[in-house]
Amino acid sequence: MIAHLKNLIRPIYFRLYHLFGYPGIVLHRATIRDIVQEYNQVYTYVVSKPAGLTFTAGQYVHLVAPRSIIDQNSVRHMSIASGPEEDCLRFTMDLSSNSKFKKKFATARVGDQIGIHSVKGHFSVDKKEAEDRALVFIAGGIGITPIRSIVSDLNTVPWRLIYAGKGYCYRDFWNHTGNLKKIKFTNRETVLEALQNVIDTSPKDSLYYLCGSSEFVATIRGFLANNRIEDHQVILENFGDI
Ligand SMILES: Cc1cc2nc3c(=O)[nH]c(=O)nc-3n(C[C@H](O)[C@H](O)[C@H](O)COP(=O)(O)OP(=O)(O)OC[C@H]3O[C@@H](n4cnc5c(N)ncnc54)[C@H](O)[C@@H]3O)c2cc1C
Repeated sequence: MIAHLKNLIRPIYFRLYHLFGYPGIVLHRATIRDIVQEYNQVYTYVVSKPAGLTFTAGQYVHLVAPRSIIDQNSVRHMSIASGPEEDCLRFTMDLSSNSKFKKKFATARVGDQIGIHSVKGHFSVDKKEAEDRALVFIAGGIGITPIRSIVSDLNTVPWRLIYAGKGYCYRDFWNHTGNLKKIKFTNRETVLEALQNVIDTSPKDSLYYLCGSSEFVATIRGFLANNRIEDHQVILENFGDI
């Protein structure tokens, strides 16, 4: 009964929220400039950077799909995959769930507008803390997105990346920045072996940045703990049941 009532009231609430101009949030508009297929159903949307939108590498936003008002079907958390110094924003997502949100992106075209609000998140490198430390990034699938942002913003700090996927995003970026020797491309079957190798050959006080689905994050976190990597050395971003 209550669930039924909620379903009835929700669209009215969101329509009113739209009519009153979304009080309480600043909604930025951005134009899709390019759409890049990374692999399979994974696409990157390159969008214009709205004036006044600032963020730290690794943060995420609330992304509003094209041709939508803010409602439960049209907004998702999405990490910014570009670095703060880039002249565009990049968002990468797997469209294969076919949700209403993903369908709107599947039919999006260059020139369409999207919405962005509420920059958030603590999955970032504290450059002071990272000074004199080695950084190890571990990405599961689409969990590579905030790591691309962070890496593009690192200058002198030494880092390595273990990237477990069915396919790999940003090939030009990894090639272009000459970082290929720092990256171990792997998959779900071999990721722990690759990680063991990195743990064994990294300084004891290295910092580990981990991002992916709940399942991936839980598995890797457990493995790090078994290898005596302390909690304070692990920074994680959990994308949920993706
Ligand atoms: C901080 C943060 C950053 C993120 N950054 C990114 C990013 O950069 N790129 C990215 O792609 N995603 C990112 N995500 C995840 C993203 O917000 C979405 O949760 C994800 O893309 C799934 O959205 P969806 O619309 O495809 O699925 P949703 O409709 O939201 O469903 C989510 C999941 O619920 C389950 N589900 C939903 N409906 C059903 C059903 N009827 N039956 C069974 N199961 C169901 C499925 O497992 C599904 O995958 C991030 C999440 C967080 C928290």
